[in-house]
Parts: sequence; structure tokens; C-alpha cells
Amino acid sequence: SRYTWAVTDDQRDHFVRVRGASEHNLKNVDVDLPRDAMVAFTGVSGSGKSSLAFGTLYAEAQRRYFESVAPYARRLLQQVGAPHVQEITGLPPAVALQQRRGAASSRSTVGTLTTLSNLLRMLYSRAGTYPEGASRLAAEAFSPNTAAGACPRCHGLGEEHDVSEELMVPDQSLTIREGAIAAWPGAWQGANLRSIVSGLGIDLDTPWSKLRAKDQQWLLFTEEQPKVMIEPEPGRVDHGYYGLFRSARTHVHHVLANSQSQMMRDKVMRFVQSVSCSACGGTGLQADSLAVTFRGLNIGQLNALSFSDLVTLLRPVAELEEAGAATSSAGSGEATEVAVRICADLVARVQVLLDLGLGYLSPGRSSTTLSPGEAQRLRIATQLRSGLFGVVYVLDEPSAGLHPADAEPLLDVLDTLKSSGNSLFVVEHDLDVVRRADWIIDIGPGAGEGGGEVLYSGPVAGLEQVAGSITGDHLFGRAEPLVRPQRQPHGRLHLHGVTRHNLQDLSVEIPLCVLTAVTGVSGSGKSTLVTQVLAELVRRHLGQAPDDAEDSDFEVDVDDATGLESFDRLVRVDQRPIGRTPRSNLATYTGLFDAVRKLYAATPEARRRGYGAGRFSFNVADGRCETCQGEGFVSVELLFLPGTYAPCPSCHGARYNAETLEIDYRGKTIADVLSLSVDEAAEFLSDVPAASRSLTTLREVGLGYLRLGQPATELSGGEAQRIKLATELQRARRGHALYLLDEPTSGLHPADIALLVRQLHRLVDAGNTVVLVEHDLDTIASADWVIDLGPGGGDQGGRVIATGTPEKVARAKGSATAPYLAKHLA
Ligand code: ADP
Ligand code: ADP
Ligand code: ZN
Ligand code: ZN
Repeated sequence: SRYTWAVTDDQRDHFVRVRGASEHNLKNVDVDLPRDAMVAFTGVSGSGKSSLAFGTLYAEAQRRYFESVAPYARRLLQQVGAPHVQEITGLPPAVALQQRRGAASSRSTVGTLTTLSNLLRMLYSRAGTYPEGASRLAAEAFSPNTAAGACPRCHGLGEEHDVSEELMVPDQSLTIREGAIAAWPGAWQGANLRSIVSGLGIDLDTPWSKLRAKDQQWLLFTEEQPKVMIEPEPGRVDHGYYGLFRSARTHVHHVLANSQSQMMRDKVMRFVQSVSCSACGGTGLQADSLAVTFRGLNIGQLNALSFSDLVTLLRPVAELEEAGAATSSAGSGEATEVAVRICADLVARVQVLLDLGLGYLSPGRSSTTLSPGEAQRLRIATQLRSGLFGVVYVLDEPSAGLHPADAEPLLDVLDTLKSSGNSLFVVEHDLDVVRRADWIIDIGPGAGEGGGEVLYSGPVAGLEQVAGSITGDHLFGRAEPLVRPQRQPHGRLHLHGVTRHNLQDLSVEIPLCVLTAVTGVSGSGKSTLVTQVLAELVRRHLGQAPDDAEDSDFEVDVDDATGLESFDRLVRVDQRPIGRTPRSNLATYTGLFDAVRKLYAATPEARRRGYGAGRFSFNVADGRCETCQGEGFVSVELLFLPGTYAPCPSCHGARYNAETLEIDYRGKTIADVLSLSVDEAAEFLSDVPAASRSLTTLREVGLGYLRLGQPATELSGGEAQRIKLATELQRARRGHALYLLDEPTSGLHPADIALLVRQLHRLVDAGNTVVLVEHDLDTIASADWVIDLGPGGGDQGGRVIATGTPEKVARAKGSATAPYLAKHLA
């Protein structure tokens, strides 16, 4: 690494030194990073930033930690593998704050994520107002996740799940014989059912709607399970047997309680709907706990307040401390010293969230509804209070998904972490964040094999001198600006009286046949407007099936919508994974693998052996490795640690059995093809048209560095999104589709943003309409039209502040976006 800053001897103690790092694409990297500083890792996607920051530094810190706390785990850890690095010295313990990690469970909330829930429960337990004669409850009694606190009806979930008639009998004109009861197992539509139901005196050939209500209710809901003699079918020689009748509901419950098959469970879940629990009103808490109040609210009501309102409610109590007005008598409730102390602590902690622009969230909000950026800021705020020092925080793009106005307070918080004696290693693309770093490690020059070298390591200003750094080009204004096509809209879509979340009776116009950026601070309502309301209206108008049933589970509240007929297709290009198992990957998702499998099946040797295309699928028993069932790895049980994986001992990750791997095409096995990068495959498969079309579009969106077989579960949200976009581009024809994208540039280097934006403009040039939720100023400035929401988040937002060309919006008064956009356009 030619440009590495020379570290003098007396500085040495303050540096982490890495020697011979070769994880993934890293090319035997030697680098020194300062501690007690903010170090930014930069480079195009796939250059190796994460491989160094997470794959090497964080992985090694974690390995050392586990070795020290659990020496018995050493052998198992060896099996999992240490990072590929010769030596690291001076490495402090590390904490990773990654965006893509930490799949939220439905029971975790903003309150549990930030640990504020513990304090709130303590407050109710120790200082709440109890009904006359009630005895004090322990803090656990205020948690729905404990036996002491859980509502007995919903077991703390706050929701009741039950079957509903509409879902179980979707078409009332059908007869039972025709399958009116969709919730019953298929086999039941046969002889078994005929005997049982007609044996009970119910006619099988009457349309459902004409059956007696009493019979309908009985068939769907009875808890009786009568045994009925099943007569043998005429002409068959068996003797008949006793069959057990189960109502549709009993059947659904039986499957949910007993079936091991996720597919069966998923199938019956279609007939189940969830409603707020009637006993606890959705709080998940038992009645005695809900009877306790603080400042007039029970803990369920308090959890529903936004943080801004919570602080307003608790501050007067917290301030009694200063006034010396607290009493020491424990019995007198809300003005005791305990109450004052807990409230003061709560107010201080919540203040950090307000500073980070998260005042619109409430402690009770389910963590599954948070955006990755919101979740990461919550975790950062929590760390800030943890009082740790001397650790390295390894962060994955802390600014991703943030409006520039939201990024500033976040950076202040990072400064606080640093000044309390910690180091920050930050993988980052946002140049405004990079400029604030003390040190920059620029990796490149390209992606995958074309990257993996340290181009520069030193103070930020020094990067200017480095030729060949794409980051340097962008940081010091040498890169070409994005194209600015300037188009006129062809008509408009009008929405009137939209009401959802914080949008109240909103009216907005979306111009057609142009590229529109919807902007605004976090929580202003961008996603609600674009990916929920607009998407749902157009989807329903077109009668398209939902991408994900959960997202369509709401009524669209809008007075009037015109212009929906302008589109013939809706395409949502979002960051959701392209598959939830390692069995799906880039090649299977884009359909390109089909072409490859056919290619292998057509080789002379495969034909001689009679191997069809199915043989070359790692999901089919014939061709795959049986030890790992085609997964390429096996899970290793580490005590107390969640699932860890090691390469399969039989196929060493190849996924196929030895016979399948005997077939080669131009010297490569099918497993070799899966380990090619898109760039390499484009060359190898250049004369296979069905494959090269996909490969070309993947390269056009900047994904040339991805390996074909990279499991869906290892891809970042941004990569998944670009794969979807490439798949769309591959079939793109002239048309009138509406493309909706939520923050497509998040996680991308400015050079990759330029590639992506060029592709989006191509879609518009072909006659389509593109609407983006966006924070990146380069991208906003290159849009034809901007719709700015705000002015703030939550209750402070939800209004259209300005619309028009980027230049016009940049001059708008009262817009949080305008000053940043104006500076950018200048
Ligand atoms: P960046 O963080 O700069 O986007 P990464 O460090 O994630 O880049 O990736 C660098 C290279 O390593 C890429 O070519 C990528 O495909 C490869 N890579 C990433 N993760 C893995 C993995 N788990 N196994 C093998 N290769 C990987
Ligand atoms: P943006 O996309 O601009 O960050 P959102 O549309 O996500 O804003 O949020 C707008 C408002 O709606 C915020 O107050 C947010 O807390 C609220 N909100 C968003 N999603 C949900 C949800 N699933 N449940 C309750 N409130 C929500
Ligand atoms: Zn309940
Ligand atoms: Zn195997």
C-alpha cells in the first residue's frame, strides 16, 4: 500500500495494526488505524470495506472475546474459522452496530431495544398510583413478556389470532363438495368428508350461502369432534373405519399446534386474522398491572406516547429534584425521591432520542415496523448511555437513510462516543460524513478481484493527492456531475384527502412520465405516502397481487384519486431480501441459472449419462450433496450462541455430489460457475444469450462484483434492490409502468449512485414513471420533479411543503431540504 501514512514510534501505541489481511478479496493488506479517532472506510461497493472492518477487525475482536469467556468453545470456533489475517495488534474489544443484522422479533419494541422499558416498569412498580388496597407489583408485572405481567387471554402478544368466516369460506356460492370450506385439508373434500358431513345430515350439494346458519357455524367452529363411521366406497373391498370430524377452526388450530411443516403452518395461517386483544386492549398486560397509573396514564397508554410527549409528561416530576420538592416517604406515590430519580434518568435518555430526530417514535412501537436507519440510531443512542469506554464501535453506514438534517445530530452523537474514549470504525459513503473523519482508509480501486487493496490510509486531506481513487474524485470535486435531462410531465396523478399515520387529509399531485424524488426528514411521511398509499392504490386499481400480504393489510383512506388508469403495471423495487433462505441466490432469482443448467444438461457427457437440467439444481436430490442437502454448509452448535455455520465436510461448499461435478463445460463445473463473479460470468457465458442479457443488466447497475451463487441471505438490502432493478431492466419494454423505489441509493458509493441513476433515467426515457423516496442530494438534484414533505417528523410532518423542479424546491421557505439542496446546486 503505497500511500500509507507513516506511523512514528511514539504514535505506535495509539494504533491498531493489521498485517496480512486476506479475508474475501483483500490482497494481503497491511494497514495501521488510529484508536480514539473516527476512521472512515471508503471505496465502491464490493471493494472490500466490510471485509476489512467487519470481516477482519470486528470478527477478530469477537473471536478473542469468545475465547476469553468460553475456552471450551475454541475447538468449535476453529471449525467456524478465524478471519484470514496474519496478525492484529492493539485491537480493543469491539461492538458492531450493523444495519442489516438483528432481524427484529415481533415482541421487541422501541422500548425494549433501547432498554427504556426497564425504567418505565420500575417507575410503575415503585412509584405508580395503585388502586385502593392493592399491593405493590414487581417491575416484571409491567412486562407482557413475563408470566407475572402477561394478559391471560393473549399471553402477552396483545393480539388475538383467530380464524374468520370470510377467510375460511372465500366463495359462498360454492357447495361443500366443490370446496366451499377452503380451510379444510384437500383430502377432506373426498370420500371421508362426504361420509362424515352427510352422515351428520348436512347436504353437500347446497351452496354455502343457502345452508342453515346453525350448520355453517357448526362446520366452521364447533369444538366437538364426533367419531363417525365411514362407509366403504361402493365397489371397494375395505371395511370402513371410524373417522374423526374436526371443524375448520379446530383443524387450523390443530395444524398450528402440532404440525412440524412450516409449509402447512403457513398455509393455514392464511385463514387466521389478528385483532387487538379484547381483554387488554392490545397492551398484552394483565388487568392488575393496567390498573396502576402514573400521571393519570397506565403503562400501556404511556408506551403509546411519542417520545416528545413522554418528555413533556415526565419533565415536571424530574424537575422536582432541582426544586428539592420530592418527599422521602415511599408510600406517597408520584412525588417520591424514587419517582424523581427514575423520571430524571428517563428524561435524560429520551432527550438523546429527541436530539437524534426520533421524537416521533413511541416506546411501544414494534421494532418490526422500524426502518433500518431508525433502528440503528436507536442502538447508537443506547450505546451512548452504556458508559463503555476503550471499545471500538464498528458501524455500517450510520448516515444511510438519513436526511442531511438528521445526519448532523447523529454525527454529534458519534463525536460524543469518541470523546468519551472510544474508537469509531465507520464504513461510509456519505461524503459529508467522510469529511468529518479523522482518518480515511480508501479501498479499491475497483470491486471484487479488482479491489481489495488499500489505496490510501491517513488524514482525509491527503487523499486529494492519490491518483486512481474514485472516492478522491468525488470528495474533491473531480467527478462528472450526474446527467440532468429536464423533462416535462405528461399529465398528473391526483390524490385528495389521504389519511394514514401522520398524513392528515393530504392532497398531492404526482407528475407522469418523469422522475420524481420525494424528500423530507425522517418520519415526515415519505414511505407512508409512496410505498404504502400510492403503491396500494395503484396495485388495487390494476388488480395486481400484493408482494407481501402483510403490507396490504390496511384500508387505504383517500377521498379521491384520479389518473390511476395511466399505468399498466406497478413495480416496487424495494430492499426486501430476494429470498429468505441460502437456497436462493442471484442466479436463481434472475432466472439466469435456468440457462446455465440447460447448458450443462446439453453437454455430450451429461446427455450420455441422461442428466437433465434438474440434475444441476442444488435443490434437487439427484445432483446435490446429500450431507448438506445442497446448502454447502452445515450448522455448528455453539453453546449459547445462535446458529453458526461451517463449510460442508463432504462437498466443501460446492453443494453438489461428486458425479454431478464430473460434468464440465469449457473446463468448469456447475459449482465453479456459481462461484464466478458477474463480471467473470459475463465473459465465460458471452455466447449464451439467455444468460448474457441478465449479466449485462446486472453490470449496468454496478453489481459486476457479486458472485452468482452468493446466497440471498448474505446480500445487503441495497444489493437485493439493485438485483430487482436489473431483473426489471432485463425485461423493460416501452410502457406505462409506475416504478416505486425506497431510498435506492442508500449504501452506495457516489460512483455506484451515478450508475444507478443513469438506469432509472433510462426507464423514464422508455415512457415509464419513476418515484423515489430519496435523501441523496446528487440524486434529488438530477430528478425532474421534487415533492418535499415535512416540515418535521411525526406530528410535526405529514404535509407537502414544496413541489417543483429541484431549483424551485431549493428556494422554498420552511423546507428542511431546501437549504441543503440550494447549497448543492450552487
Ligand atoms: P464492500 O463492503 O466494500 O461493499 P465487501 O467487503 O462486502 O465490500 O466485499 C468485498 C468482496 O468480497 C466482494 O467481491 C464480495 O463479493 C466478496 N464477499 C463478501 N462477502 C463474502 C462471503 N461471505 N464469501 C465470499 N466472498 C464474499
Ligand atoms: P419517512 O418515510 O418520511 O421516514 P414514515 O412514512 O415512515 O416517514 O413515517 C411517518 C409517520 O408515520 C411517523 O410518525 C411514523 O412514526 C409513523 N409510522 C410509520 N410506520 C408506522 C407504523 N407501522 N405504525 C405506526 N406508525 C407508523
Ligand atoms: Zn390480551
Ligand atoms: Zn455438502
